[in-house]
Order: sequence, then C-alpha cells, then structure tokens
Amino acid sequence: MKADTRNASIAAHESEGSWRTTAMHALPFVTVFGFAAIVPMVTNDYWALIATRAAIYWLLVSGLNLVVGFAGQLAIGYVALLTLGAYTTSVLVSGNVMPLFAAFGVAAVFGAVFGVVVGLPALRLRTFYFAMSTLGFATIVTQIALAWQSVTGGGIGIAGPEFPAPFNTTTGFFYFCLGCAVLGTWMTANVAHSRFGRALIAIRDAEVATESLGISKPRMLVAIFVLAGAFAAFAGGLFATLQTYITPDAFSFDLSVLFFIAILIGGRGSILGPLLGTVILTLLPEFAAPLAAWSTFLYAVLLLAVVLVAPGGIAALLDFKNRRPLQTNRAIIPRPALLPDILSRERAGANIALRGITLSFGAVRAIDGLDLDIAPGRIHGLIGPNGSGKTTTLNVISGYYAPQSGTVSLGGTALEPGRPETRAEHGIARTFQTPRIVGEASVLQNVMVGGTIAGQGTLVESLLALPRHRRDERMLEDAAKLALRVVGLESLAPVRADRLQHSELRFLEIARALMLRPQFLMLDEPAAGLSVDEIARLGELIREISRQGVGVLLVEHHADLIFDICDQITVLNLGRTLAAGTPSEIRQHKEVVSAYLGG
Ligand code: ADP
Ligand code: MG
Repeated sequence: MKADTRNASIAAHESEGSWRTTAMHALPFVTVFGFAAIVPMVTNDYWALIATRAAIYWLLVSGLNLVVGFAGQLAIGYVALLTLGAYTTSVLVSGNVMPLFAAFGVAAVFGAVFGVVVGLPALRLRTFYFAMSTLGFATIVTQIALAWQSVTGGGIGIAGPEFPAPFNTTTGFFYFCLGCAVLGTWMTANVAHSRFGRALIAIRDAEVATESLGISKPRMLVAIFVLAGAFAAFAGGLFATLQTYITPDAFSFDLSVLFFIAILIGGRGSILGPLLGTVILTLLPEFAAPLAAWSTFLYAVLLLAVVLVAPGGIAALLDFKNRRPLQTNRAIIPRPALLPDILSRERAGANIALRGITLSFGAVRAIDGLDLDIAPGRIHGLIGPNGSGKTTTLNVISGYYAPQSGTVSLGGTALEPGRPETRAEHGIARTFQTPRIVGEASVLQNVMVGGTIAGQGTLVESLLALPRHRRDERMLEDAAKLALRVVGLESLAPVRADRLQHSELRFLEIARALMLRPQFLMLDEPAAGLSVDEIARLGELIREISRQGVGVLLVEHHADLIFDICDQITVLNLGRTLAAGTPSEIRQHKEVVSAYLGG
C-alpha cells in the first residue's frame, strides 16, 4: 500500500516533469514564431515579405532537416522540389485546371513521389555520390522547366497562383505562410521526438547497430523522403505565390546552398538550430545589402566559421545542459533483480544452431566448418586468440555476413543470411566489440532506440502526435528507464552518450539490447576495458539474464569471467573448433591450456 502511494506520487511527479520539459522545449519556438508574428505590425510590407520568405524556406528546410540533419543524407539539390511545387501549382491554377488548394495538394503528392525518386540513390550511393545525384536532379528539373514551353512558359515564365481573401494581402499571406511554418515545425518535431526520429539518427551514426535492432534503413529513408518532398513542393507553391511570377532562374543553385547550409550551421539532429539558421541566412543579405551579390560567398564564410568555431552548430552552442561537469569516479552498480520486469515474455525454448559454417574473406578463412549451439537459459562461451573468428561468428548469426556454406537456424527454421534487420524479430540481440552508439543523443534516447520495433503507431500517427504515438513514447521511455536501472546507468539518462566512459558504453549497449526482450543475447567482449569490480558485477548480470531463460553467447578474453559463468565453452583457433565442452573439460584440455590459456 505504502509502496503504491509512493509509486503513484513518483508517477505524478514524472508526468509533471515531462509536461514541464515539453514547455521548456516549446519555449524557444514560441519565442521565434512570436517575434515573427509581430513583424507586420511593427514594420512595413518589405519586411513582411522577407519574413514570408523565411517562413517558406523554413517549411522546406524543416522537412529537409529530417533527411540531412537526422538521417545524415547529403541531399543538396532540394531546390528541385521547390521548383517542382512552384510550377505544378502555377500551371494547375493559371490553366484553371483545379482550385488553388487542390493544386497545392497535387503539388504535395508530386513532391512526395519525386522526393522518393531523388532520394532512392541514397540507398545505394554513399555521401558525395548521393549529393551529386541530387544536384543532377536539380539541373534536370530546371532544364525541363526551360524546355517545356507550352506548359511552363519556358524562359518567359508563368504567373504564380493567387490566394483568395483574406490571404491575398502581404500581411494575410504572411500569416498563412507563418501558420504553415508553425505546422511544419510541430510535425517534424513530433517525428524527431518519436521512435522514427531516433531511428533516423541511429541510421546516421550507428547504422550497423540500427540494423541489429530490426530497423530497416530503406523503409525509414523512403518514409522521410516522402515527407520532405511533400513539404518542399508545398513550399514551392507558396514561393510561386510570393514571387507572383516565376521563371526557371528564380530557382538558382544559391537557394539549394541556403537550404543545406541552414541545416549545417543549425546543427545536426536539432530543429531549433536549423530554424535559426534559416532565419539568419534569409536575413543576412538584407542587413548586408551591398553584399547581396555575395550571398553565396557569405554563406560559405559563415559555414566555415561555424565549422571552425562551433562544429556542432547553433544547437551545440545552445546545449547548456551538457556543459555541466559529470560526477567523476562514478560506479556502475547493475540491479539484476529487476531483470524479470523487462525480460518476461513467452519463450519458445528453441536453440540457435550453426552447422558447418565456412566463411572466407579472400584468402583468409575466418570460419572453417564451425558447429555451435546456443540454448535458452544457458551461457555459451566463445574464446580464442585474436583473429580466430569469434566476431565473424557473431556477424554470421546476426546476419551481417552470408557464409559460403553451412546453415544458421533457430528451432529448425533457417535464419536468412545477409539480412541483419530480420534478427530482432526472432528475439536475437547483440552488443558490439567496439560500442556502436549515437554519441550526440542522450543515454536514454540511445536505449530507447533499442525498442523501436516494439512501437505500434505509424509515422503518420507520430507526425500528428496521435494517441498511439504518445502511448509508444511513454512505453519506450518507461522501458528504457527500467533497462538503465537494470544496468546501473539511470543517473546518466539525460547525458549525451559521447560523454560516457568506455565501460559505461558497454553497459549502455546491454541496456539497449535488453529493450528487445531478447530470447538470445550475444555479447562481443563485454568485459574489455572494465575494472575488476565491474567485471564481477557484469558476470552476475549476465548470469541473471540467462536465468531468465535467455540464451547467451559470450565472446570474451577474460578467462576468469568465462570459466566462472559459462555452462558450455567453444575454443576457436584459425576459424576451427579447437575444443568444446564444459568449463572443467576445457580447463583440462591439453592443447587449449598450452596454446591459449598459457598454463
Ligand atoms: P576475432 O573476433 O576472433 O578476433 P574476427 O572474427 O574479427 O576475429 O576475424 C577473423 C579473421 O577474419 C581475421 O583474420 C580478420 O582479419 C578476418 N576478417 C574479419 N572481418 C573481415 C572483413 N570484413 N574483411 C576481411 N577480413 C576480415
Ligand atoms: Mg573480435
């Protein structure tokens, strides 16, 4: 009873806290948009036009920000989608094909489709090659606008769509665009603070780990290309209205540069930063009027200054929270007793079985005819000298490598080779020899990424903050906090993950893996870099995880830990099994003792 009331009061306190956090997060945006809203009242039409332009640019940049700042895809030719939206609305409205708002709807759909077309190369091409492909697309769109005279008016141009009252005045149109900008901010912020936003950042900074959590990069990217494309084309319609008349040279390369640099100087993974970046870049040529012709040059200088002075952009400058020093001499005290709360699930009781696995990299035989079983509730140790194929074995099981021969199966069904994103749904979780985390995200967010596939709501539900999105967020946050308590990192939850010590990152990865409620957990040298005390506590934690029915595969160099907690041990040498058996059998194995244990 007592405990109940205490829990209730903690819950009340936390929900009040989260309300306050939401208000804190919203405050800077309310301030920026509040200032924008009074522009027409305190200045003249000229500044209202500039503010309108900033709002339109921001609508495009807010969507592009998810592609560039969150997913880390270098899409620099986004002026193409602005052009597309501008011409679509202008042609449809001036030709009286359909009413204004229907034309904007069609433009958004076109933008969504072409957003994917522009984005698709990202699934195959890396960074600069992708960047070049988006630029190529921008050139194509401009050339089509020039050449297709009968529809676009070619170089002579075409009249932009006109808005009906009350949006047909400078002020009225400004408020319409401001409303769109606010809506765009709200929607993209909702996505950013959802499992989708966290997954995008994880794809950017820890792609391999993201796949092991069951997140499909292609699906995530396509979804945000749709979104960003629709936003950009809608913005294009507004842009054409603002210009009143459009020709292909209204859509210069400078604009693409502006959109892209606004995000870079704003800071990756932030929304406020790129918003301020867009405002600054739109206003800059106004304040330095004689320099207007030099705007590209100014952008470049500004970008250089930001890269040199504040590599994290405006967002990093505003991140006061993470400048507070952390407590030194922190101890990690896991709480294995809490494990049943997070791991309880129905367990199939099947084994993971490897049979005759062979895998070569060129001339190197990394694995050579390996048989291995991981049973539920048991700890299987995998040891061997460096380069003996331990990590490669994990990578075969988690689907990163397709073996040249042999099978990996779970309870008799084959696990698809080369498809790492399919393992999470089978309840196979893992950690990495070098921790793969999102340094710029908080510890809590890093752990929440682990539960991405447990969410129920769709991207559209997150976009609009519908009930299922809010339920997912509460569920993931509660689960992640519990996982952090289990591994003993709860006091670091709000801290940027790149401020953690190496040993803490190892426990962070375990917490993230626990978010999958795994049936199997594979740990790649989890004790590397840990103190003796920490290794002992890690051992207890792993043992308790296996007691919950989880099958553990433990790759480790610390012989004490291995012999202490394993039920079964396989010793590898040059990709072959040198010995397999119980710890006491392995201890007596002559070759193992002489070759590996050095006894
Ligand atoms: P361990 O984890 O036991 O130290 P690994 O499984 O990482 O060893 O490596 C086994 C062998 O395979 C090593 O000789 C290593 O150089 C080679 N190897 C592993 N991954 C690759 C790769 N992606 N490309 C080429 N060679 C690799
Ligand atoms: Mg290794």
